[in-house]
Amino acid sequence: MPLQTAMLELMSTGWLRAGVLEALDLVTPCFCAGCGRLGEALCERCGAALYEPPRPVRVSATDLPVWAVTAYEGEVRRLILAWKRGRVDVAGHILAAFSQFADRWRLLSDEPVGVVIPAPSGLRRRISGRFVVGQVATSVGEVLEVPARDVLRTRSVGHGGGRGALARSRNSGEIRVVGRAELPARAVVVDDVVTTGVTLEACARALAGQGVEVAAGLVLAATPRRSVV
Ligand SMILES: [Zn+2]
Repeated sequence: MPLQTAMLELMSTGWLRAGVLEALDLVTPCFCAGCGRLGEALCERCGAALYEPPRPVRVSATDLPVWAVTAYEGEVRRLILAWKRGRVDVAGHILAAFSQFADRWRLLSDEPVGVVIPAPSGLRRRISGRFVVGQVATSVGEVLEVPARDVLRTRSVGHGGGRGALARSRNSGEIRVVGRAELPARAVVVDDVVTTGVTLEACARALAGQGVEVAAGLVLAATPRRSVV
């Protein structure tokens, strides 16, 4: 990365080294997770992309109304991937933006919902504390003043495991509702990225089986060619 090369060159000039190290605060390395700019976890320019008006998204696999914070491309894509890979210093920025998005969406929606439900994530992600969709659901629940309930699971696929298995399981619609407690009649489902909408459709179908209507899918980012903007 050119920026990092430039940094290393600067630091190799000896007397500058101490000052540069101090300036960069290398104890807690701080560079924008979107564009790599030094200074903060998310620079102003990359952060601005998270505060656009909520956008309706047309996806092929579901008739569910789907709304996205932003488009899944460029710096936003790098930011989301960094978050999912464990850059916890960007979580606050993303969750704050999603909360504001949910608040704006509430004004656009006709009927209130009673619960926020995260799309299912793999067990490994849950255990490792990188259940980012769960964090999103909690934030959105706070904004909408309703509980967040982690009740969706992918069915076990029998062989193998890991991300590929999860993707297959999500894509084939093998999603079920767990837990015995009764759910409110209207829900929103949240997810990180939407592409075809297959996962959201599978979530909606599973919840419909329990008498829960999904009012909308709210996602952080939509693959751009599917956005209606
Ligand atoms: Zn940036």
